[in-house]
Amino acid sequence: MTVNSSKSPDAPRTSCIQCGSCCTKGGPALHKQDMDIMRRGVIMPQHLFSLRVGEKVYENVVGAVAPSREEMVKIKGKPGSWICLFFNEEEKNCGIYQDRPMECQALACWDTSAIEAVYAKDRLTRFDLVGPQDAVRKFMDAHEKRCSHREMARLIGLLSSEQAEKAANQILDMVLYENDMRAMLVQKAGLKNEHLDFLFGRPLQEALKGYGLEVKNIRGKLALFPVGNNP
Ligand code: SF4
Repeated sequence: MTVNSSKSPDAPRTSCIQCGSCCTKGGPALHKQDMDIMRRGVIMPQHLFSLRVGEKVYENVVGAVAPSREEMVKIKGKPGSWICLFFNEEEKNCGIYQDRPMECQALACWDTSAIEAVYAKDRLTRFDLVGPQDAVRKFMDAHEKRCSHREMARLIGLLSSEQAEKAANQILDMVLYENDMRAMLVQKAGLKNEHLDFLFGRPLQEALKGYGLEVKNIRGKLALFPVGNNP
């Protein structure tokens, strides 16, 4: 669900015509008001992904890509697209309409003043949903400390300096640590693969593509390349 501007180019629309357009541009972020939907199991961790502090996101109210200033939890898109997981493309309706999140209730595409008023308030984060006593929490905290997006962005900024080699190795260490931790938690601790993007955010390897970089495995060793560069 995306907020683009205060008035739709389709104006003078004054009510929802169920075109489904808002549901095809990304799922909503969850807010404290949506806790009850989570408690009742309407929306579950496998339906969500986390955006971590410093991660590049499209700030739709601002209309630009910028590092996120705070954590967010959002409903995933369908595989390979931004279409909300709960959007029924044939019927053009919401599969959880009676329990749709607060942002979806507030959005009126012909006048976005209501959504703009609540959009940035009381956002839920994974830390609201996974308490300090939860066994996985220590892995989340360690991962955040070791693999923060801010640190990765700082290291990427050094790639054009004389410290480039050291910075590249540090980035690859972060990727390796994260990949190993995610694999270990699934294989040995029994965590569900589909919960990982909620618990730890999207993999760093994915985030690196937003900087024009990709990680490749060259003869058993990870290496960093500009996207599209075939070694
Ligand atoms: S939860 Fe429902 S209303 Fe909200 S974006 Fe997804 S399909 Fe649309």
